[in-house]
Amino acid sequence: MVKPDPEQERRLIVNYYRRLLHAWKPNRPEDRALVRKAFNFAAEAHKDMRRKSGEPYIIHPVEVARIVASEIGLGKTSIICALLHDVVEDTDYNLSDIENLFGKKVAKIIDGLTKIEGIFDKNSTSIQADNFKKMFLTLSDDVRVILIKLADRLHNMRTLDAMPKHKQLKIASETLMLYAPLAHRFGLYAIKTELEDLSLKYTEPEIYKAITEKLQETAKDRKLFINRFIYPIKKSLSKQNFKYEIFSRNKSAFSIWEKMKRKEIPLEEVYDLFAVRIIIDTEPDNEKVDCWKVYSTITDNYRPNIDRLRDWISIPKANGYEALHTTVMSKDGKWVEIQIRSRRMDEIAEKGFAAHWRYKTSSPSETDSNIDRWLRRIRDMLQSNDSESLDFVDEFQGFLFVDEIYIFTPKGELRNLPVNSTVLDFAYAIHSEIGNTCIGAKVNHQLASLNHKLKSGDQVEIITSQKQVPKEEWFKYVVTGRAKTQIKYAIKEEKKKFAKEGDEKLKKYLDQVGVKDSNVVCKQLQEKYNYSSKLALHYDIAKDLIGLKEIKACCVEGTKSGWLSLFTRPFTKSKPEDKKTLSEIVIKEIKDNKSDFLVGDNVHKISYDISNCCNPIPGDDIIGFVQPDEAIIIHRTNCPEAISQMSKYGNRIIKTRWHDKETVGFLTGIKISGIDNQGFINEVVKLITEIHHLNIRSFHLDSEGGTIEGNILLYVYSIQNLNNIIRDLKKLQNVKKVERIAAFKHMLK
Ligand code: MN
Repeated sequence: MVKPDPEQERRLIVNYYRRLLHAWKPNRPEDRALVRKAFNFAAEAHKDMRRKSGEPYIIHPVEVARIVASEIGLGKTSIICALLHDVVEDTDYNLSDIENLFGKKVAKIIDGLTKIEGIFDKNSTSIQADNFKKMFLTLSDDVRVILIKLADRLHNMRTLDAMPKHKQLKIASETLMLYAPLAHRFGLYAIKTELEDLSLKYTEPEIYKAITEKLQETAKDRKLFINRFIYPIKKSLSKQNFKYEIFSRNKSAFSIWEKMKRKEIPLEEVYDLFAVRIIIDTEPDNEKVDCWKVYSTITDNYRPNIDRLRDWISIPKANGYEALHTTVMSKDGKWVEIQIRSRRMDEIAEKGFAAHWRYKTSSPSETDSNIDRWLRRIRDMLQSNDSESLDFVDEFQGFLFVDEIYIFTPKGELRNLPVNSTVLDFAYAIHSEIGNTCIGAKVNHQLASLNHKLKSGDQVEIITSQKQVPKEEWFKYVVTGRAKTQIKYAIKEEKKKFAKEGDEKLKKYLDQVGVKDSNVVCKQLQEKYNYSSKLALHYDIAKDLIGLKEIKACCVEGTKSGWLSLFTRPFTKSKPEDKKTLSEIVIKEIKDNKSDFLVGDNVHKISYDISNCCNPIPGDDIIGFVQPDEAIIIHRTNCPEAISQMSKYGNRIIKTRWHDKETVGFLTGIKISGIDNQGFINEVVKLITEIHHLNIRSFHLDSEGGTIEGNILLYVYSIQNLNNIIRDLKKLQNVKKVERIAAFKHMLK
C-alpha cells in the first residue's frame, strides 16, 4: 500500500473543516473558537484512525457536523457534539474528559450518542430491540441526540460503498426501517428522501439503477413540459407583483418504486409524475392569504382536482409541515401536483422542526408541543410495554410510519391519532381508565360504537360506564399500540383477580375426584381444552366455564372423548307432513332428548353462529343446525326461517340449550316509540347504560309530528336481562311502546 502524504492529508482535512464553517456561518468569534477547539480535540483523538475507505477518520465527524449545521439547521452545541460523537466510543478519552473540556450539556448528548452507537452499528446480527427501547427511554430528554444520530447515519449511508456487501445490506435495511421514518417524524423531508433513496440503492441495486437512468434519460423532455406548464402561472404571478420562486421536483427513486409496487404499474407510467413547487416571499401576517391568492391564480389557468386539495396551512401536519397542495390538469392531459408555500413554510418542510425554533418568536406554532407530545407518547408506549422485543420493533415501526388524523375533544382540543383509529383508540389515547370503561362515544353528537372508525375533524366525546371491563374482542377494534397494550394489561389484571378463586375450586374438584397430583391434571386440562396458560385455565374454572364434568373426563381414561358424542344423535328422519307439525315434532324431540349442545359453553370449542334472522339471546328457546362445514347455526325455535330449515334438513338439527352462566353479551334489538320531548334520548340511554349497565351498539332515531321512534341495538346477557330492560323502558313517562326486534341485519353498518 502506498503511504499517504501527510501534508496532502492535512490539507484535505482543513478543506473539509472550511466547508463546515462555510455551511454554518458563525456570527460570534467565541462560538467559532469553541467549535475549533472541538475540531482540534477530535482530530487529535482520531489521528491514527482510518475509515474503511482509507480516508482519515476525522473527515466523518466533520461531515456529520456539516449536515447538522446546513441540512438540519442546528447550532453551536450540536455542531460540537457532532464533531465529538465518536470520541468516547472509539478512542481512549472518556465522558469526564469531554465534560471537563466542553461542559455538562455536551457530555450528556455525547453519552446518549455513544449508547445508540453500541446498539446499532456494532451489532452484526440484528437490532437489539431491548436496547433500542432503553435508549429511547433515556435519550429522548434531548432531541438533539436523535437529530445528530440521523446526520451520522446519513453520512454513513453516503459513504456506504466502502463497506462489504453484507454490511451494506444490513445497514441499508436498518436505515429504511428506523431512520427514514424517524427523519419523517421530525419533518426532515430532504434527509428522509435521501436515506430512502440510498437504502434502495443498496437493497435493490438493479431497480435503483433502472429508475435513476430513466429519470436522467427523460430529464430534457420533462423540462420542456414543465416550462410550458408554468409559463402562464409565472406570467400571472409577476403581474400581481409576487416575489416567488417556482421549480419542479422529481419524485425520488424510492417513491417511484413504492408507487410501482403499490399500484403494480410499470416504470413508464410513474416516472413522469412530478410536483411543481411555488415558494413566495411574504410577510408572516399575509402568508395564508397570499398562498390562497397563488392557488386562485393557478386554478384560473388550470382545472383543479377538488379531491386532491390539501390545506396544511390551517391545520399543519403533526410533524409541523405546512403548505397548500393542489393537483391540476395540464393542457397535455397530465395531472401535475402543485405545492404552495411561504419561504418560512419551505424552510420548515425541508429542515424540519429545527427550523421551527428559528421562527418560533415570529410565529407561535404548535409544532414544538406536537413533537413533545409525540416523544411523550413513545415513552408512554415503552413504559407500559411488556411485549416481546420483536413485537416491540413492529409496534414501534407502525408508530413511525402511519399517517395521522386529527380529532377534537369536546372542549375543542386537538389530538393526533393514526389513520383508522377508532372510538376505543381515542378513549385510550386520553387515559387508560377511560379506555377500560369506554362503552361508546358521541361522534359529532351522534352515538357511535367502540369500533367506529374516526375521520379527521371528528369531535368525540367518550361515554364510560363503571360496569365496563376490557374484553378479548377489543383487540379487533383498535389499531394503536397504546390501546393494545392497555387492553392486554387490563385483561390480565382482570384474570388475575379470578385466578386464585379458580385455583381453589380446582383443588376442591380434584379432591372430589380423588386426584393427588394436581400439576399433571392441570397440564392435561390445558392440553385437552387448549389453554395457553394456567392463568387462563384458572380463570375459566372460576367462571364455571370448566367444571367437575370436564375435569372428570380428563382424569378418567378410556371414556368417550371429545365433544362429538354430545350431539351426534340425529333427529328422526321421517318425512314431515307439513312445516308446523315438524316444528312441533322437533320441539317434542328436544324435550325428550337428553344430551344438549351448550351454546356459549366454550369448553367444546365448537364454532357456532347466532343466526341473524331471529338473533336469539340466552334464555330464548333455541335449536341448532349443523352446517356442511360443521359449524352450528343457532335459531330461535319459533323463527320462521328455522321452521323452514327444519322441514328440509331434519337430520342436521341438534338439540341446543344455553350454557347456564353466560358471560358474553349478545346483540339484540329493541324498537321503542314515544313522545318526542327533550329528555327522551337521555332517559333511554341512561336507563340502558347506567342503570342496567349494558352496552349500546347503535341508536337510530326518527321523529315526526311530535312522536319519536328509535331502534336500539344493544348487548344483553340473557332473556331475563332483555325483559327487565323492556319492562323498565315501558315505565318511562314518555315511552309508549317497546318491543324486541327479531331481525336487524339491515341496521348493522
Ligand atoms: Mn459516526
